[in-house]
Amino acid sequence: MSHNKTDTTRSQSIKMNRTSGKLFIISGPSGVGKTTLYKALLKQFPDMLYSVSYTTRKSRYGEQDGIDYHFITEVDFKKNIETGRWAEWAKVHDHYYGTSAGFLNKGLSSGYDILLDIDVQGTIQIVNYFPDSITIFLLPPSMDALNNRLRLRGSDSESAIEKRLLNAQREVEKKDIYRYVVVNDRLEVAAEKLVSIIEKERLAA
Ligand code: 5GP
Repeated sequence: MSHNKTDTTRSQSIKMNRTSGKLFIISGPSGVGKTTLYKALLKQFPDMLYSVSYTTRKSRYGEQDGIDYHFITEVDFKKNIETGRWAEWAKVHDHYYGTSAGFLNKGLSSGYDILLDIDVQGTIQIVNYFPDSITIFLLPPSMDALNNRLRLRGSDSESAIEKRLLNAQREVEKKDIYRYVVVNDRLEVAAEKLVSIIEKERLAA
């Protein structure tokens, strides 16, 4: 987690730039279906921006640099911690992940609503700066179902899957800090629920 001198400067600059855009944060354990769902949401709400995270993990098959993630080296990631580039950052499953403060500032101050897919540690940091963020936790129907999904995905090693399951358990325990909890049992149903939450929150003052 990032709490040092540079963060104080950074948080002040973020606060000063807050205007009409809203932040929507989606979290949930690895394998719960966040990627599929946020992509469906962006189709439904083409005027929303997606915050493409920076990560030090290697790209998975089919992932595109600059679209799914910005893939960067650990050296660069750490340099950017020092320069205060991240609105939030966290180490998740042995890799670093971060959100660009510049991207959030620019988007929000231009009036765009922004969707973030970040973990619980990152959500806590963002909510500190943006208490009005709309936070949504995606829950798997059961841990067994999550286990099956991670294995079916076939993109992670056995040890990576085990780490993800352990982390999932810890994340699920924090679900109550989120404003909304949506169970992703059937994709279409979960997508409909997310759409109605976002529609309602976008209309709210
Ligand atoms: P994956 O490697 O499976 O794409 O993502 C692993 C975890 O990292 C997911 O829980 C995802 O939500 C989280 N994550 C992705 N981008 C960020 C980010 O910018 N910041 C934080 N804190 N977590 C992120």
